[in-house]
Amino acid sequence: MAHRVTLIPGDGIGPEIISAARRCVEATGVKIEWEEVIAGSDALAATGELLPKAALDSVRKNKVALKGPIITPIGEGFRSVNVAIRQALDLYACVRPAKSYPGVKSNYQDIDLVIVRENSEDLYAGIEFEEGLKQTKTLIEEIKNLSKKNIREDSGISIKPISKFASKRIVKFAFEYALKHNRKKVTIVHKANIMKFTDGLFLRAGREVAQEYAGKINFDEAIVDNMCMQLVQKPHNYDVLVLPNLYGDILSDLCAGLIGGLGIAPGANIGDNLAVFEAVHGSAPKYKGKNKVNPTAMILSAVLMLDYLNEKKAAADLEEAVKAVIAEGINVTYDLKPSPNDPLAVGTKEMADAIINKLKKL
Ligand code: NAD
Repeated sequence: MAHRVTLIPGDGIGPEIISAARRCVEATGVKIEWEEVIAGSDALAATGELLPKAALDSVRKNKVALKGPIITPIGEGFRSVNVAIRQALDLYACVRPAKSYPGVKSNYQDIDLVIVRENSEDLYAGIEFEEGLKQTKTLIEEIKNLSKKNIREDSGISIKPISKFASKRIVKFAFEYALKHNRKKVTIVHKANIMKFTDGLFLRAGREVAQEYAGKINFDEAIVDNMCMQLVQKPHNYDVLVLPNLYGDILSDLCAGLIGGLGIAPGANIGDNLAVFEAVHGSAPKYKGKNKVNPTAMILSAVLMLDYLNEKKAAADLEEAVKAVIAEGINVTYDLKPSPNDPLAVGTKEMADAIINKLKKL
């Protein structure tokens, strides 16, 4: 039976990389009925809304989506359409594998890490109070009274909610992910020494969950600043990292850097029975319509989607084909060539063609 998948092309380079990923998925032979919906600039032009209800309803109905990056125009009501989608669908776990592929320029080899980022709360909850507003002043007075600490009157305030519920949920997700994907260790990353009631809560909730997996998956913990140094110095000591939202966002880019950049970093946003697969990178507007950028991050996001759909062989084959094309280094985009101005670099479509050709030969 065919899987039904919502397809959201997105903005900027989105339609080009989504088309590349769709063709690669189809070349695996897995039957997919795609339901294409619009969100982002196209949706704003057509419907007056950046994130039409029809797009969210389609994901709710099909339970799985492949999504291109979406621009967030400044001053259009949303902080980020991408964050709004994750919040509306309660896609609480952001999974971002960082894996080295031979042939990609990088200072590191054999990296194989997975970032599991809490997606629903922390400083990304969007609870902010602008400097100078009456309500901000009221809040500042209230906080000063309650905490007996000084806050400058001309401060802006961002709220960092971290709950026991969401902390346990994400750490449990990380351990279950580790079990399912034959991982050996989960590291909880935090700043509990400073933020005792938010990061401290995250850590305590995490330790509690970790006990359930004792003997099955190793567990350790690290303070986020130290973790950054460890990842740069000894990335091979780590396996699955689970972090609150903000640190997860920052460390996923750090890990994308370890493996050679955003062009090859895939991602998934997963909830209890819904999942949206998208690259870590954004819509790179300057390359829109130029058939220039690397489709790999989007194609590897589709590999994660096939794995989620339990199409294990198709997922493994597609990854193998991507790996082979990158290792050959011939039909690859500019960012995977020794010099970005290499005249022999191919376009987005041609790199996808090469991956499809490899798939056929596996
Ligand atoms: P970006 O990731 O779009 O691009 C930054 C740079 O990275 C590009 O200029 C390019 O040099 C490189 N790059 C990105 N993707 C590449 C690829 N596939 N191949 C080769 N090189 C690639 O980041 P940005 O410029 O900060 O953001 C642009 C827009 O994207 C913003 O509106 C932002 O809000 C949005 N965004 C969306 C998402 C998402 O949809 N999940 C994520 C991040 C940013």
